[in-house]
Amino acid sequence: MGSSPFDSWISGDDEVSELLSREWQRQTNTLQLIASENFASPAVMAATGSILTNKYSEGYPGRRYYGGNQVVDEIEDLARRRLTALFGADHANVQPHSGANANVAIYQALLEPGDTVLAMRLDQGGHLTHGSPASMTSKIWRFVGYGVTPRSDNPDVIGEIIDVENLRELAHREKPKLIVAGATAYSRRIEPEVFREVADEVGALLMFDVAHPAGLIAGGSNPNPVPYADVVSFTTHKTLRGPRGGAILCREEHAKKIDSAVFPGQQGGPLEHAIAAKAVAFKEAAHPSFSIYTDQVITNARAFAGALAEHGFRIVSGGTDNHLLLVDLGTFDDQLTGKAAQEVLDRAGITTNRNQIPDDSRSPFVTSGLRVGSAAQTTAGMMPDQFVQIAGLMAHALRYRDDDTAVAKVRGEVAALCADFNPYASFA
Ligand SMILES: *Cc1c(COP(=O)(O)O)cnc(C)c1O
Repeated sequence: MGSSPFDSWISGDDEVSELLSREWQRQTNTLQLIASENFASPAVMAATGSILTNKYSEGYPGRRYYGGNQVVDEIEDLARRRLTALFGADHANVQPHSGANANVAIYQALLEPGDTVLAMRLDQGGHLTHGSPASMTSKIWRFVGYGVTPRSDNPDVIGEIIDVENLRELAHREKPKLIVAGATAYSRRIEPEVFREVADEVGALLMFDVAHPAGLIAGGSNPNPVPYADVVSFTTHKTLRGPRGGAILCREEHAKKIDSAVFPGQQGGPLEHAIAAKAVAFKEAAHPSFSIYTDQVITNARAFAGALAEHGFRIVSGGTDNHLLLVDLGTFDDQLTGKAAQEVLDRAGITTNRNQIPDDSRSPFVTSGLRVGSAAQTTAGMMPDQFVQIAGLMAHALRYRDDDTAVAKVRGEVAALCADFNPYASFA
């Protein structure tokens, strides 16, 4: 097995070295199309692997429960300053260990147990932490779900977009304390003005969960909800291309409550190595080249959608305004499930995830759709031509899925493509 640039970091442990080498090979020799993934920069990874992992720093800058936090305070302050500047927010909390933790902390800060929350239904694109029966959120708070409009076969009408009338009707009927906007499998713009209007009509607080498009917003390629929302949560590792983690932005009036809900409400000691890496990512995202990247991500996703449609796949809502696409496999082959497609594509070196489409007749474990995204391979330098080629490779592998030679041939073409677009070429 070829060695990875990280081998020297773990000298003395052959087993972990060998596993990291294999994962390095996988990430750089197969296509990463999972919409929630990206390739972090070497600088982000260096900070994540830094000496800061040794430090305990419960509390916040200037108010720690442990000594020795002079440098850590400066790091966390730097991350907070960079983040509020990036999005134009009053206050930032960079401690959430993940997007899920950020969301639960927000609920804890703004709600009492049993309060009603209006959020997007999971089977229409919402996230587990938006009140799924499988999530603890649904056991503490009462979630009501809005959905998307029906599928449209009229080319002049875009279907499968957030149903604002349904949202408004539910808001007036249920009088939620909080409305959550944001999704995990939704390819269209989410307009913050409309959500603010509905929230104001019923006196609800408004939270935006921009886990997916945070990077696109930072780059100016998607609308920024910060001026409209009371609170905004996101992950730092999806389109924002930072380390694995979460963050919260809020209006000054909620700052104290949000901070106490994260610590000590939800978490113990913050991961200051991850916070340093977040600071690095926020600086990268503020650079003018990041906007070029985020515009390219959307251009590539649209080219990908167009090419997949030409191969007979139906793109949910007919297209995309962000980095992801929800692909309905039914028009391509109604016997092909999302689960089977994901497995065939894995064999072909194309990494995706199965996903329910709105009103899916199959279970979340099987599904009739795939979710794919352009964020990671755009970081690796791919352009529309490559996404058009990938669409062809996907169609070929899925069409000839029972022919091992055909799938192996696609696997070879994928490897050749990846060799030309190695995200860590300068590093290898
Ligand atoms: C990914 C995601 C999260 C959760 O992020 P984790 O870091 O995986 O906990 C929350 N909300 C939405 C909408 C997401 O897409």
